[in-house]
Amino acid sequence: MENLGQTLHAGGLRLTRQRQAILDILQHTDEHPDATWIYEQVRQRIAHVSLGTVYRNLSILEDQGLVRVLRYGRFRRYDGNLSRHYHLACLGCGAVYDVSLAWQDGLNQQVEQEGYRVTDHRLEFYGYCPTCQHCGEPAVSLGEGRKATPIDGVPEG
Ligand SMILES: [Zn+2]
Ligand SMILES: [Zn+2]
Repeated sequence: MENLGQTLHAGGLRLTRQRQAILDILQHTDEHPDATWIYEQVRQRIAHVSLGTVYRNLSILEDQGLVRVLRYGRFRRYDGNLSRHYHLACLGCGAVYDVSLAWQDGLNQQVEQEGYRVTDHRLEFYGYCPTCQHCGEPAVSLGEGRKATPIDGVPEG
């Protein structure tokens, strides 16, 4: 029979394994998935994982600075790419893309000329991805796609 210490230890290891899996999944996609998509992926690797656990681990990873969270209204997308980069959120399919625009350090300085001390900035692009531009008709139902969560409103947080 396991003693409490062993149980806690095993629990800790399991959490670590889940976090490791989440990190690995995020580091191998540039699709900025939502938690549900991540959960589906984790479930293929580790049995008996709950969506709640995945959410909890995502928020721990966010606190540890190991994943970046992109907030669009009430929706969250996750990014394992920690380098400074900008995103375009497609209003048609809800996908979030990395854009290759270089990080604009100069923007901070420009605002500092107004007397502020700037520590960071956020810049989001909205529009339509090449696929959505070509399909010509409005997206059927936002949020139906595999990784698509509807994008509504401006990001917060
Ligand atoms: Zn699109
Ligand atoms: Zn990104």
